Amino acid sequence: MPGIPSNVPDDKKLPSTLPILKEALSEHYAKERPGVHVSDLTGCVRKAVWQKLDRRPLTDKELNNFSSGRGIDGAIEDLAYIKRENFRQKPELWISITTGEPIFWYEATEKDICAHPDLWDMKLNFPIEGKSNKTETVWLDKFDTLNSPPPKSNTKQLLAYMAMANKTYGRLLIQYVNNKKTSAFREVDYTRTLPELREIRRELVMKAIQYWRALEAKDVSLAPHIMNEPEPDDRFLCKICPYYTECKKINDG
Ligand code: SF4
Repeated sequence: MPGIPSNVPDDKKLPSTLPILKEALSEHYAKERPGVHVSDLTGCVRKAVWQKLDRRPLTDKELNNFSSGRGIDGAIEDLAYIKRENFRQKPELWISITTGEPIFWYEATEKDICAHPDLWDMKLNFPIEGKSNKTETVWLDKFDTLNSPPPKSNTKQLLAYMAMANKTYGRLLIQYVNNKKTSAFREVDYTRTLPELREIRRELVMKAIQYWRALEAKDVSLAPHIMNEPEPDDRFLCKICPYYTECKKINDG
């Protein structure tokens, strides 16, 4: 059925809304917060340092990445607020960069590592991270997406939350927006032993130390990067990175 066409001629159109939204997102990212956020460590440390030293105007791709990623996590935050006896939204987790162990927010120093999982299930006592998946072809499921492990970046983020809270159990709650045939939702649970969680915390601390070293020296080349990771899933951020050309130059020597 045809829609109702716009009756505003091009030369009478009012200014676009997008630049203001991108400005708002840029301000949201630039908000000074203490410590280093775990997403800066599980994504690309070099990009995180670059953003601090030389923030660039955001692109439409980055706005799209942010707004489309807000599907399920925005919705579950609203719904979880109604079930406050079951869930805590965006709990604040911290680990010490000195000991690698969980600490309370009031013990945190400016260099410690912080995280905010989407939800904490208070009855089952574990973190839940919501993710939206927009794969267009998922209704055909030609690539067996619904039975394959979720993207590595999603799992790495959840495991970091589990490690930071020292909880051996966690859940990814994924919404397959284009799955019209069966349930659009999938719950994928993970478990790790206490020594495995300790090892994840150790890796986060190592990356945080490299982050601060590069930031203090104002030298992005000192920060670890993901450009040469063998699996595309591990370097997906490069595709939308505004520093790509300069980063490649550094890596090519
Ligand atoms: S291009 Fe890739 S490796 Fe380089 S800073 Fe950006 S995300 Fe990191």
